Amino acid sequence: MKTVTRQHITILGSTGSIGVSTLDVVARHPDRYSVYALTANSRIDGILLQCERFRPEVAVVGTAQAAATLRNALQKKGIGTEVLHGEEALCQVAGAPRTDIVMAAIVGSAGLAPALAAASAGKKVLLANKEALVMSGQLFIDAVRQNGATLLPIDSEHNAIFQCLPPTYQRSPQRYGVEKMTLTASGGPFLTLELNLLDSVTPEQAIAHPKWVMGRKISVDSATMMNKGLEVIEAHWLFGIPAAQIDVVIHPQSIIHSMVSFLDGSVVAQMGYPDMRIPIAYALAWPERIASGVAPLDLTKVGLLQFEKPDYRRFPCLKLAYEALDAGGIMPVALNAANEIAVAAFLERQLSFGKIAEVVARVLEKSSRTGAASDLQSVLWHDNAARVAAKNLIFS
Ligand code: NAD
Ligand code: MG
Repeated sequence: MKTVTRQHITILGSTGSIGVSTLDVVARHPDRYSVYALTANSRIDGILLQCERFRPEVAVVGTAQAAATLRNALQKKGIGTEVLHGEEALCQVAGAPRTDIVMAAIVGSAGLAPALAAASAGKKVLLANKEALVMSGQLFIDAVRQNGATLLPIDSEHNAIFQCLPPTYQRSPQRYGVEKMTLTASGGPFLTLELNLLDSVTPEQAIAHPKWVMGRKISVDSATMMNKGLEVIEAHWLFGIPAAQIDVVIHPQSIIHSMVSFLDGSVVAQMGYPDMRIPIAYALAWPERIASGVAPLDLTKVGLLQFEKPDYRRFPCLKLAYEALDAGGIMPVALNAANEIAVAAFLERQLSFGKIAEVVARVLEKSSRTGAASDLQSVLWHDNAARVAAKNLIFS
């Protein structure tokens, strides 16, 4: 029998949709993985149950008060997990010598510093938190390279593309005859809604995604297709491919997760049911394969696979993301920050759905095209500036 050394994993954002799916896969392979650290922002009941089941060495939560509550509850159950709080503790568990694999699954910019800490400590980084890469771009890629980290994409599209490329690819599309990468998109819940009704949709309608069950923020991003826009930027950094060679196609069945076109006319695609446990299992075991718990794909039951071009009138956020990537510098930082603020305001019913793109566009217009995202400090400075600009637009 083959013996496998058990690897220790840190899950940043363990109470979220990706975090829960990761623990589902991990639980299927106790011979391979043990949990070193779990983190949650405010869902103490959720992380408490996870600690009971997975017995991590460390748990990290958002505030000192949340930490005290969790510590108390753990003590009562006789569980010896150490409880920490705050961003520094997140970075600490991401870079800890005791951990081998870090799943970066915090939503939004809050995940940037801990994801960078994991890369800087040379970990095997499973990156779900696309906003981190959109914000830091070259900085993140450099941290991975300079510290011998392994970066494995969890986003289903990028994981699909990673699976379609040769193992020696190393961000070199030309050398491997890559002509185009095509990201598929479901089109979200409003693909066929009359355009004049778009502005009056509610948060409940926006987060009811037809194919994927996800956190609230990414569900709204899927409805505006800003999610696909962020993924175009993510693909650019992960695979070293220019924006002009990244295509987006709407594929409502979400069976083909993305594809790569080569110069000989071959197109290689990855397929599967829309379930994040597939990319998670692939990245966890890479370059081996392990069971994910997902049923085998039966194409005769799926029947039809459809494809159409996205309409920028329906999805202006997608166009804005391409423009931000073209402009370069700090524009992707501004795009991401303005979007986070606008989406949060939409979810709080302080902004209409149609205004999300408008706020992002106006913040981009105001942002300096000359700023550079050369270190974490400047990224965070520009992130904050764009947040302030977005809030001014929404609330004044
Ligand atoms: P979610 O909202 O379900 O979970 C987010 C997690 O982050 C939670 O554990 C929460 O406690 C934690 N968190 C939130 N704010 C925090 C803060 N300020 N500090 C520390 N922790 C904080 O989100 P999700 O759907 O799991 O998505 C997570 C990331 O993965 C996002 O970047 C998303 O774009 C990406 N992603 C998700 C999916 C999916 O299917 N859900 C697919 C592809 C990519
Ligand atoms: Mg995706």
